[in-house]
Amino acid sequence: MEPATFARALGRAGGWSIEDYLAAGGYRAARKALLEMTPAAVLDEVKKASLRGRGGAGFPAGLKWGFVPPGTDRPKYLCVNADEGEPGTFKDRYILGHDPHLLIEGVLIAAYAVGLHRAYVYIRGEYEMIARRLEAAAAEAYERQFLGPDVLGTGFALDLWVHRGAGSYICGEETALLESLEGKRGHPRLKPPFPAAVGLFGAPTVINNVETLANVPGIVLRGAAWFLGLGLPADGGTRLFGVSGPVLRPGVYELPVGTSLREIIFTHAGGMLPGRKLKAVIPGGLSAPILRAEEIDLAMSCEALVCAGSMLGSGGIIVIDDRTSMLEVLLRAARFYAHESCGQCTPCRLGTNWIRKIVERLAAGGGRPGDIEELARLASGIKGRTLCPMGDAAAMPVLAIVEKFTSELEEASCRS
Ligand code: SF4
Repeated sequence: MEPATFARALGRAGGWSIEDYLAAGGYRAARKALLEMTPAAVLDEVKKASLRGRGGAGFPAGLKWGFVPPGTDRPKYLCVNADEGEPGTFKDRYILGHDPHLLIEGVLIAAYAVGLHRAYVYIRGEYEMIARRLEAAAAEAYERQFLGPDVLGTGFALDLWVHRGAGSYICGEETALLESLEGKRGHPRLKPPFPAAVGLFGAPTVINNVETLANVPGIVLRGAAWFLGLGLPADGGTRLFGVSGPVLRPGVYELPVGTSLREIIFTHAGGMLPGRKLKAVIPGGLSAPILRAEEIDLAMSCEALVCAGSMLGSGGIIVIDDRTSMLEVLLRAARFYAHESCGQCTPCRLGTNWIRKIVERLAAGGGRPGDIEELARLASGIKGRTLCPMGDAAAMPVLAIVEKFTSELEEASCRS
């Protein structure tokens, strides 16, 4: 595998400055794209690389860019989703904080490929220091003509704004993010129309995750074949996997797409803490259905995880050991989703709160016959029946935990 492609400057004081980035070959990809390639050629390269979105849905980035109508007179926008609110996910912050110019270069190339001139980075409010560093990086990029009215003297214009959210989970959903950017309450929109046709301020809009865009300079510089070779034929490149929980070396690991979940936990993250035994793993952020310990011999790719009944999601791997009560895990998840539901649709608004109430009663020792079945019934009533994906995100963990750990939940709710 080639050297790490992200967080190049990790651990080096000032490593996030534009001097450091340029010294390491930064903005060469942007020069290549803007000075030697047509926008169509850049788009084609990204499509051939099979770069899939790193935010959760895994949609191919090149395809998404291609949905934006070309050559309209209306403004078009690029929104970078830097909300990173999925519990168990902490990878984009490494790029934003340690290699902000890698993201800015990716934004510049994407804007050129799609033919747009305005970009926003929507960053979660809690990332105060990181937002300030990104703003400083944007100012440097303006000074050096990587942003502004005449990028690299080519006549191509690009403006970039950093916009801070206020800590709402649902604002990580792409249409809620757009509403929030427009200054409204972060309520998801009905789709269709999709943002590529009707997005920010009613104009065609591309929304990409931070890590997705940070992959773009490497693809342009080294080519789609190189990128594809790092990963799988339909899912190219590397991914940042964040490992948390009772392992020896929790952290963020950049590894090829398709690396086995067992290898990530037991080799790269060092395995379980002494005396702990693996019980379960949530493989892609809290919304991803849980896997039992015996289910982790699988490739970390979008397809393999779907086949296993889960999803790759954000790549946030939450490791759970034998000392952890699954009822406690369920309680945390239920409280989180009930709190974060925006309330627009009834199954999510009521269902998440009924689930929370039942799980809280179970955790307090007040379990009644039929409670576990009722949890499954409520979660099934949410899944697939809501306006935005948060309904599924709230229902899937409940369904998986209830199905795979039924007896433990029953025992725990009697003991509590
Ligand atoms: Fe809001 Fe939940 Fe409906 Fe999404 S699913 S729009 S979060 S109520």
